[in-house]
Amino acid sequence: MSRSEEYFARARNVTPGGVHSPVRALRAVGGTALFMESASGATIRDVDGNSYIDYCMSFGPLIHGHSDPEIIKAVHAAIDRGTSLGTAEQYSLELAELITDSIAWVDSIRFVNSGTEAVMTAIRLARAATGRVKILKFDGCYHGHTDSMLIRAGSGLAGPGQADSAGVPAGIAADTLVAQLDDIHSLEQLFDRHGDEIAAAIIEPLPANYGLLPQTGAFLQMLADQLQRHDALLIFDEVITGFRLALGGFAEISGMQPDLVTYGKVIGGGFPVGALGGRRELMDLLAPDGPVYQAGTLSANPVAMVAGLVALRKLRDGSAYRELDEHANHLANALADLDDLLVQQRGSLFWMGLGQTDTPDGIVRSPEAIPESAVKRYSAFFQHMLGNGIYLPPSPFEVGFLSTAHTDQHLDELAVAVRQFPAIQ
Ligand SMILES: *Cc1c(COP(=O)(O)O)cnc(C)c1O
Repeated sequence: MSRSEEYFARARNVTPGGVHSPVRALRAVGGTALFMESASGATIRDVDGNSYIDYCMSFGPLIHGHSDPEIIKAVHAAIDRGTSLGTAEQYSLELAELITDSIAWVDSIRFVNSGTEAVMTAIRLARAATGRVKILKFDGCYHGHTDSMLIRAGSGLAGPGQADSAGVPAGIAADTLVAQLDDIHSLEQLFDRHGDEIAAAIIEPLPANYGLLPQTGAFLQMLADQLQRHDALLIFDEVITGFRLALGGFAEISGMQPDLVTYGKVIGGGFPVGALGGRRELMDLLAPDGPVYQAGTLSANPVAMVAGLVALRKLRDGSAYRELDEHANHLANALADLDDLLVQQRGSLFWMGLGQTDTPDGIVRSPEAIPESAVKRYSAFFQHMLGNGIYLPPSPFEVGFLSTAHTDQHLDELAVAVRQFPAIQ
């Protein structure tokens, strides 16, 4: 028995499924949880002494790689000043100023502890601002695990959804409308029927939790136009894309401006941080100035704030994004000739699927366009890569992440291992 297996057997006794977040159980790739011990740069090590090049990168926060020396140094100094103050402090002020200075339309920002919390609060804020109840979301987007977001499409036309988890009341499901990505026609119908009931639509403008599903500019613009016509708000969930595609996230590269934005992952430099931001008059509705309640014992934790501050400062001059784009191009070129492998990439995000899609332009933009083989064959692919020292995201639906710690040599090793997968050769 490996140490991982031993720990997992113990963990199952004291923790549901042996893990604290379901995907870590590795069920989607036909395995059992791998216990990791440490990580640095692009490498992660398990408790049995194996090292892997990590392309999961903690699911997104680690744009500078594991244990970035500058972040670690700042964090050590922060810990020496006290691990939690529970008061106003200057570290969150500096991070808030950096963000509002860098992203013109974010006037004001509130820090929370996770992406889920940011989304939960953004929804409450949108409802308070509009006096309406219904929230529109899209199948194939993930917004964390607050009740009103654990909803999938109901039967029939786009409209009221149904609970995607036990324990979510039908009444809550009824207040979430669900539409399909990349489907302008059904979105139009939904707005015709429900437009005036909608407080806000929330979307990952580059959906990256169901593979990578780039949306057309026309689709996103149509959504924004419809919302404006119906006096409803647009929430961009940039928990993955914020500070990763560019400092200003998808909004910056698209030129679109949502009313509210949610951040997480990169913003915490590897620590638990989420945030919501937007126009001043909306943000001022939050307590203590406004009537919308929101709070957090460990919110704006000074250690996490300092980690985020260093992480974002390192991104400010744009050189990290250029470096990441070069790595991304290197990877794309290394895999370009493989007919049986779909590779979708945007900046440092990538998704690999075995098989081919039948969309006219060969790009997967909706969950339905993901070929069945990409799901069916992923377990074997993941295990093959793991055996070759490469840790991919442990689910066919999670995207891979590049960091500035990955080198072209790491990417070449990835490409070589991919080519050795029997079904691809
Ligand atoms: C990860 C993620 C969340 C949830 O963030 P947590 O910190 O895991 O709660 C929300 N939205 C998107 C787009 C995410 O990728």
